[in-house]
Amino acid sequence: MRPIAFNLTGPGYQARRGEIDAAIREVLDASWFILGAQGEAFEREFADYVGVAHAIGCNSGYDALVLALRALGIGPGDEVLTVSHTAVATAVAISATGATPVFCDIDPRTFLIDPEDAARRITDRTRAIVPVHLYGQSAPMDAVMDLARVHGLKVVEDCAQAHGARWDGRMTGTIGDAAAFSFYPTKNLGAFGDGGAVVTADPEVARSVSMLRNYGWQPGRRYVSEVRGLNSRLDELQAAILRVRLRHLDAGNGARARLAATYDAALAGVPGLALPSRDPRSTHVFHLYVVRHAGRDHIASALAAAKIGTQVHYPVPVHRQPAYLDHGYEEGSLPVTERASREILSLPMYPDLAEGDVLAVADAVRLAVGG
Ligand SMILES: *Cc1c(COP(=O)(O)O)cnc(C)c1O
Repeated sequence: MRPIAFNLTGPGYQARRGEIDAAIREVLDASWFILGAQGEAFEREFADYVGVAHAIGCNSGYDALVLALRALGIGPGDEVLTVSHTAVATAVAISATGATPVFCDIDPRTFLIDPEDAARRITDRTRAIVPVHLYGQSAPMDAVMDLARVHGLKVVEDCAQAHGARWDGRMTGTIGDAAAFSFYPTKNLGAFGDGGAVVTADPEVARSVSMLRNYGWQPGRRYVSEVRGLNSRLDELQAAILRVRLRHLDAGNGARARLAATYDAALAGVPGLALPSRDPRSTHVFHLYVVRHAGRDHIASALAAAKIGTQVHYPVPVHRQPAYLDHGYEEGSLPVTERASREILSLPMYPDLAEGDVLAVADAVRLAVGG
């Protein structure tokens, strides 16, 4: 049997190999590799795509979170609300600023931050909130922004899984004070290496991020640091590749939506299986197609035996990982998050996944649960 799993240089790459290889050649011919014309062009094009004034490239989604938080003045002594049900990068980025992540529970249907639980965790040290648009679906931004307004919190959207997703018609990444995108190879917009970007409408935040990512150097003035920054730059090769892939992002998201609809239809009525929830205000870009079942581990091994690649995003909530046990969250302290981590399963989802493969995966799931 042919395996069903994502391959970055599979059919999707082969179909536009000419464009990508030409972009790589252009960078080699220009012989300029860090902070140049490709990076600037990509920043302009990505800002236009998101519909925001400023995009600043950097080395990863993690760095984008750190840079955005630091530019907004978040640091030691501050508390930052976020979720435990996310990539650990979200939490370690908060920790890297010197602030303390405060973990909130999630909505059991959407797996997104529960704003009521977040409100209960606000203290006089709370300075910011990092909503994560997980799996490609926007967090409930009306409630998040209300909370931020009432308590004077900065909002940094974690858009690492949500390129092109909208909340109530508005593009994610344009709603908070700043947003962090990742271009890790498997994301909806992925490079052939690490990459990330901060987007913001605020020129001061943009200026601060531009300095921080390059040792704190003043714009246009090398070797003079205004602040103690770091090194986190998007290189020219990745920027050139991302410019090509950005042109195909909406088509890729469209393909994901069609594949998700195929899964929905093929998996409808499987006993005990919860399909991804849809909120009419949130256009889901299906970075991942995540189902839920009490017998998750059994389904995962049955699919593995059929050479179908599944994953769990994420098996151990951040608050129960060794690095965060000293933050004081006992087992059972985030019950919705902990139960979700035992029951979720990410089925294959990528734009060049064949429709027939989706049906084969659905059949394998049905067989596994006897539905
Ligand atoms: C991938 C991811 C990140 C981190 O991005 P990197 O580019 O890998 O550093 C942050 N948050 C979420 C939700 C992610 O999925």
